[in-house]
Amino acid sequence: MSQSDPQQQLEQAHRELNVLYEVSSAMRTTLELEHILYIILTGVTSHSGLGYNRAILFLMNPKTNALECEMVIGPESGEHANKIWSYIENQRPQIEDLIREDKVETTLSDSALLKRLKALKFPLDSQNKLLLVDAYHRGTPWHLTKESLLQYDHDPLLQNFQSNEFLIMPLRAKGKINGLIVADNFYTQKPISTDDIRIFSLLAGHASLAIENSRLYEMTVEKSHTDSLTNLWNHGYFQEKLSKEIISTQKANQPLSLMMIDIDHFKELNDTYGHQNGDWILKNIAQILHESSRESDYICRYGGEEFAIILCQTNKKESFQIAERLRQKIEEYLFKIPSLSQELKLTVSIGLASFPEDAQTKEELIANADKSMYIAKFSGRNKTCLTEPLDY
Ligand code: GH3
Ligand code: MG
Ligand code: MG
Repeated sequence: MSQSDPQQQLEQAHRELNVLYEVSSAMRTTLELEHILYIILTGVTSHSGLGYNRAILFLMNPKTNALECEMVIGPESGEHANKIWSYIENQRPQIEDLIREDKVETTLSDSALLKRLKALKFPLDSQNKLLLVDAYHRGTPWHLTKESLLQYDHDPLLQNFQSNEFLIMPLRAKGKINGLIVADNFYTQKPISTDDIRIFSLLAGHASLAIENSRLYEMTVEKSHTDSLTNLWNHGYFQEKLSKEIISTQKANQPLSLMMIDIDHFKELNDTYGHQNGDWILKNIAQILHESSRESDYICRYGGEEFAIILCQTNKKESFQIAERLRQKIEEYLFKIPSLSQELKLTVSIGLASFPEDAQTKEELIANADKSMYIAKFSGRNKTCLTEPLDY
C-alpha cells in the first residue's frame, strides 16, 4: 500500500474487503451469466466499488477461439457521466442497491460503444498484432499509458475506445483465462494506482470463478433442453419456448408461425434399412433443418420422426415460402448412408399455423399445425398445407 498513515491504510483495507464481500455475495445469488457480468462490472465502476469510470467485459468464446465483447458499463458522454454522478452524490447508493434496483441507466445495452465492439472479434490466432490478444497472452494485469499505446496505433479496440490510460485485467479461473476487463477513468482522468490494480486483481479472481461456474451451469441447462440424437431442442423446451414466444409476440403485436414436419413413410425405411440407419437419417434431416434456418428460428424434435419449427416474427405467407423451400430441399437431397452403397431419397409433409390469424392460444396453434400436417399426409404427402388458405 502506498499510504503511510495507518488510519488511511485501515480505511483502505476496509473498503477493499467490503467491495469483495459485496460483489462475491451478489454473485452467489445467481447463476445467470448476464446477471453475473452485470454484477462484476457494477463492482468495477460503482463509487462504492472500485470506482472506474468505464468498464468493458470481453469473454473468450471457445467456439470461435476469439475474445468477444459481452457488456459495457459506464457513461457514454460527459453529460451522461454528470447525470450519474449527481445521482450518486444525492443518493449514495451501495453496490447492492445498484445491482438490485438498477436505477441508473448504466448498462449500455443500446450504447453505441457496445454495438461497435459487438461487431468486432479478436481471434487469438489473428495474423495482426491485437492489443486484447497480447493482453490475453500476457495473462497479468496490464496498465497501459499513452506511450505504451503508441505501438497499437491501428488497433480496432482503440479505434472504438479512445483512452489515454487504462487497465486490462485478465479473468483467470482454473488455470485458464476466460475473459478480460478493460477499465479506465476517461471522465475524471484519475490516474490508476498500484493499489487500484491490486484490489481489482482480487475481484477478478472471484469474478472469473463465478463466470466459469455460470458457464458450466448454462451448458447443463442447455443440455437438458437438447435432444441427444439430433442436437435439436427437445419437446419440453419446445413447449416452454412456444409459450414464451407467444406472450412476447402478443405484446409486440407481431406474427408468429409454427411448422410441423413429419417424414413420409419412415416406418418403411426403418423396416428396410434398420433403426440405426433410420437414426442416421433423422440426424441428417435435423442438420438440413438447422442449415436452412434463421438464427431467430427454434428447431425442435417434437417426437419420433416429427419436427417443429417456431418461426418468430413470421407471418403465414412468409412461413409458407420457408416451408416450401425446405420441403423441396429435402425432396432433392440424396442421403448417402455410410453403411449402404446406395443413395436414398425421401420426402416430408408439412403443416402450418400462424398466430394470431389461425389461433388464439398455444394449444390451438399446435393443434392447427398438426391438423394441417395430417391434411398434407392424406392429400398425397410431400406437401405443405395451411390451416386456412392464403387470402392475400
Ligand atoms: P407417414 O408417411 O404416414 O408419416 O408414415 P410413417 O411410416 O412415417 O408413420 P408412422 O407414424 O407410422 O411411423 C413413424 C415411424 O418413426 C415409426 C418409428 O419406428 C419411427 N421412429 C420414431 N422415432 C424414431 C427414432 O428415434 N429412430 C428411428 N430409427 N425411428 C424412429
Ligand atoms: Mg409421425
Ligand atoms: Mg411419418
